[in-house]
Amino acid sequence: MLCESCYQLVEFFWQEDLAAFFAKNFDKNYFDQIRVMARFKSPISSLIKSLKYQHHSRAAKFLAQMLFFHLNISYEKFDLITFVPIHNQKIKKRGYNQSQLIAEELAVWTKKPCLNLLKKTVNNTAQAQISDKQQRLQRLNNTFEISHPYSQHRPLKNKNILIIDDVITTGATINSASRVLKKYGVEWVSVLTLAANL
Ligand SMILES: [Zn+2]
Repeated sequence: MLCESCYQLVEFFWQEDLAAFFAKNFDKNYFDQIRVMARFKSPISSLIKSLKYQHHSRAAKFLAQMLFFHLNISYEKFDLITFVPIHNQKIKKRGYNQSQLIAEELAVWTKKPCLNLLKKTVNNTAQAQISDKQQRLQRLNNTFEISHPYSQHRPLKNKNILIIDDVITTGATINSASRVLKKYGVEWVSVLTLAANL
């Protein structure tokens, strides 16, 4: 998917834990680890765009494989993989969630289950129209909830979870998703993203 010379242009972050870097943006952070594969610029940005808008399943396979090898996921100790959900209206329009495609491919590589743990309750488009900053943050905190089968009898108690997001900017989305996971008993949340838009 990327030729040798394009590959040379990828700015990798390797295995750095960026949790402390992103934690500075919040009063309280709920994630334990954040790793980013590369900087969000060409050619990675174009691959992510083709994954997002053209349902490029080859791009999903390629990016998941890159994530797996560059971040050394095979040595990781975790119980299951999940992903940042997008709103149902968006899924209807686009047909799929790009982060879910990556998570499912990664599940194949790691031989761990990929579960649809989270639901998005608020559509971002509506959210952008809320002018009051305080209110916007409040809404962001209530953006996710746990999917039905996992909200009963605490099946996530003491689990170590890997959560996939395509692109990270401030970390607000991932912090809000991690907050919900922790509320349902998750022990450790490790965030894996393809790229950082810093
Ligand atoms: Zn090339």
